[in-house]
Amino acid sequence: RAKKEGPGKVVVYEPHMHTEAINYLSLRTDLQRALQEHEFRLQYQPLVRLDTGETAGVEALIRWHNPARGLVSPVDFIPIAEESGLIVELGQWVLETSAAQVAAWRRTHPDLTLNVNVSGHQLVHPRFAANVTRALAVAGLPSGAVTLELTESVLMSDPDAAVASLASLRELGVQLSIDDFGTGYSSLAYLRELPVDELKIDRAFIARAELTGEDLALVRTIVELGHILGLRVVAEGIENAAQLEALRRLGCSYGQGYHLCRPSNPADIPQVLARRSLTAVHP
Ligand code: C2E
Ligand code: MG
Ligand code: MG
Ligand code: MG
Repeated sequence: RAKKEGPGKVVVYEPHMHTEAINYLSLRTDLQRALQEHEFRLQYQPLVRLDTGETAGVEALIRWHNPARGLVSPVDFIPIAEESGLIVELGQWVLETSAAQVAAWRRTHPDLTLNVNVSGHQLVHPRFAANVTRALAVAGLPSGAVTLELTESVLMSDPDAAVASLASLRELGVQLSIDDFGTGYSSLAYLRELPVDELKIDRAFIARAELTGEDLALVRTIVELGHILGLRVVAEGIENAAQLEALRRLGCSYGQGYHLCRPSNPADIPQVLARRSLTAVHP
């Protein structure tokens, strides 16, 4: 149970640590096999123009269906894919698959854009820009139709390195977004310097509250900050009509959330795109 490690150092192994280590290892093993076994799928959630209700683009969201585990949330397996390095291969699969899918939808909806989540490990990979270029070229999707989403914590862990790799990505013509904005530690100084096009307000600010009082004032401040910096502002996690109305009044340009449309299987997206407005009131 306890083991001597160096002079006078005792490390105690508790049974639950052992179980956790086994869970972690088995999850990692399953994850490595899952790509070959075609256990990953993508869902797509619309990004909606709040003034007209039109679907401007879709965000690709990964799903893992494992025969033994059932549906595993990306919140649980993305961190493991990052630690094990598998995220590079997995992220490339997401890019290639979603780019081909959106290129197909653009035959009937030529202005449709694609948002893809990118992890820090992908961003710092020396071949990342080349991989993005190749995925888009194979799919026939113009780089201007693509926005890469990076979280604030990834950008702020090494802001100078981030500025450099973002600049080289932007040269490819792809746009860049700060995801989950407000949950990290962005410094305003860096925010000005980062070559980004879009800011996504984390759903904690939108969905937890009824958007009144201080909550509303906070969201208004973030919307204004985004606009001052010349960014497209997207509100995540709109779950009811009151939140939608409040965000419209604040002049927030785009929104996402269950109230507008849930993340959906690719087969269901054409009928979503066919609807002229996702914000119109249904009787
Ligand atoms: P995210 O990029 O911030 O994505 C938004 C999450 O909020 C998604 O969860 C989405 O299903 C959920 N969501 C959308 N509307 C609502 C709403 O109205 N209410 C609530 N409560 N939730 C809403 P999901 O799909 O479980 O993804 C979780 C996170 O996993 C993502 O957060 C992203 O950070 C990561 N992720 C997902 N797909 C990928 C991927 O392909 N690559 C990487 N690197 N990360 C991914
Ligand atoms: Mg995202
Ligand atoms: Mg987000
Ligand atoms: Mg999030």
